[in-house]
Amino acid sequence: MCIEKTPWEQVIDFHGHTCPTIALGFRIAQMAQREMGMRPTSDSLCLVKAYTQSCAVDAMQILNKATTGRGTLIIEEENTHIYEFHFTGSQEIHKFTIAFEVVDYLDSLYTEDLSPRARQNKTLEGVQYIFSLEEDKLCQYEKIAGCLTIPTKN
Ligand SMILES: [Zn+2]
Repeated sequence: MCIEKTPWEQVIDFHGHTCPTIALGFRIAQMAQREMGMRPTSDSLCLVKAYTQSCAVDAMQILNKATTGRGTLIIEEENTHIYEFHFTGSQEIHKFTIAFEVVDYLDSLYTEDLSPRARQNKTLEGVQYIFSLEEDKLCQYEKIAGCLTIPTKN
């Protein structure tokens, strides 16, 4: 018998561990899917641009099918948790800016030297925190006119 994995299990499997930042990516990826709605055409691609490389982008590789291999996941390192989503063929960018308080919280989680057990507890606490936040406390969402493009390879 084969029991299908939940989207969360698929994401954790791919990412290789459970952490608060993958939980953050999971929520943003799902919100983006909801806001973007249906693919405009069957050959339309979902492009994701992240302004920091973090665990969060792995959720977008699974849920939004934006992958580094195909160049549809673009990472521009500006050390800021902003994630933009765009369907090729559309004229809309869906922009999610993670709340300052959330970034601060994530940064503060593992600052001290922690025993493995304490670390695990912090991880659970962090994941629960991310999943319990109201969407408007988690991030700011904007729909802006424009396109993302796949960077051309040299
Ligand atoms: Zn992680």
